[in-house]
Amino acid sequence: MPNLILTCNAGSSSIKFALFEKEKLHQLFHGEIEDVNGTPTFWVKDARDQKIEHKNGLNPGYHSAILALLEWINSCSDEMHIVAVGHRVVHGGKAFVEPVIITDAIIKKLEELSPLAPLHQPHNIAVMKIFAELHPNIPQLACFDTSFHRAQPLTTQLFALPLNYANDGVIRYGFHGISYEYIASILPEYADKMAESRVIVAHLGNGASMCAMKERKSVATTMGFTALDGLMMGTRCGNIDPGVVLYLMEEKGMSIKEVTDLLYKQSGLKGVSGISHDMRDLLRSDAKSASTAVDLFCYQAAKELCALLPSLGGIDAIVFTAGIGENSAIIRKNICDRLIWLGLQLDDSANTSNATAIHSLASRVSVYIIPTNEERMISMHVDAKLLTHSISSE
Ligand code: ADP
Repeated sequence: MPNLILTCNAGSSSIKFALFEKEKLHQLFHGEIEDVNGTPTFWVKDARDQKIEHKNGLNPGYHSAILALLEWINSCSDEMHIVAVGHRVVHGGKAFVEPVIITDAIIKKLEELSPLAPLHQPHNIAVMKIFAELHPNIPQLACFDTSFHRAQPLTTQLFALPLNYANDGVIRYGFHGISYEYIASILPEYADKMAESRVIVAHLGNGASMCAMKERKSVATTMGFTALDGLMMGTRCGNIDPGVVLYLMEEKGMSIKEVTDLLYKQSGLKGVSGISHDMRDLLRSDAKSASTAVDLFCYQAAKELCALLPSLGGIDAIVFTAGIGENSAIIRKNICDRLIWLGLQLDDSANTSNATAIHSLASRVSVYIIPTNEERMISMHVDAKLLTHSISSE
């Protein structure tokens, strides 16, 4: 069995992971420890997406979760060795414009960024520390969701606030950067002629955002200072008049905690439908509130796409990716029908069959479905930044 690269995506209640063999970067396994602090479950799927492990009864906590993962890896084969770990880290602030090798000093800097992403960053850091303690000799790399957007022009990173706030770090950071970077890296394989042109990538999952790219670099994105901005999401509100927040606190007496919970966890598809945060549930439902939520999601997606157009000076292609973008023909059509005036026409049968290119021959704007793979992007960074330097001499 091969040497392995482990990728980790630690969230507020789960750790998603994937294992790649080091030589060719083939993904061997992926899995998740869900409900880490509650009643954790651990599952693993193989490269054919078949579940090969499902375990309950783990002790709660991130430390136990990582121990369970390492135990499972050891139980597979004595020959499987983790040679490096790559972490998805939500926030790299202004400073981290590319992946960085994790040291104690880097962890301190990442901790300083925690107030900018309090729901995610502390968990990312906790898992790095657990690995450092358990396996101090295994190198670790941090890959940031914000880095891909740092080369944007100043104008698209600024809020219309006095500039001293921007100097203090109140800017539009943007997120989902690892996903966008992956799409940018494989765009030429899918859309050769379009790759370097004006492309908007729509990452539509539980979290949802869009990124305007020119020559495969981010020039603008819909998420801002936090991952609340932009599109309506599973449980997040997306773009909202900041006056609503002031009203809720001043007039309705809501606390910061209550407003945070409302905007992050009780809004979006879940809040509007009152049924579910999951798009599949809403598409199956006959309830009026479900179709209202779906329509608002699609309207807001089309509106946010249009708001990105000035950053590109037009548009040549749209790429749909992530759970909803890759799988839902209905949602893609609903969004694209609102953009017909751009000269965009879908090929309905290509769209329905989830083909790669789903625009009609007459369409002025090309439309593609490209599956994202953040874990693979992280493994590519680990290979490029860590292994080629530190392990090539082993
Ligand atoms: P995350 O942001 O958690 O990584 P995903 O990219 O996995 O999210 O996307 C999850 C979303 O994708 C959910 O709303 C789910 O309902 C939706 N989804 C997955 N498959 C389909 C499908 N066939 N049709 C509609 N929505 C789908």
